[in-house]
Amino acid sequence: MKMKCPVCGKLIDYENNPWKPFCSKNCKIIDLWNWLHENYSIKVEEINEKITLEEENNDKDNSLWRSRKNGQ
Ligand SMILES: [Zn+2]
Repeated sequence: MKMKCPVCGKLIDYENNPWKPFCSKNCKIIDLWNWLHENYSIKVEEINEKITLEEENNDKDNSLWRSRKNGQ
């Protein structure tokens, strides 16, 4: 059975995989780190909100480019 690593998206064998559902020890650590980050750092959430607002502004700037891309 094949499945995708939830961290990097790599296809991996589910059986005989000591790090499942991840592809490797690295991805398991990354996922744990992300989880800890999300749960224990309020500052990161504030930064993410700022990034989201900036992305929305960028979307408006890129609207011409986007409509061109969709038209193809
Ligand atoms: Zn992975």
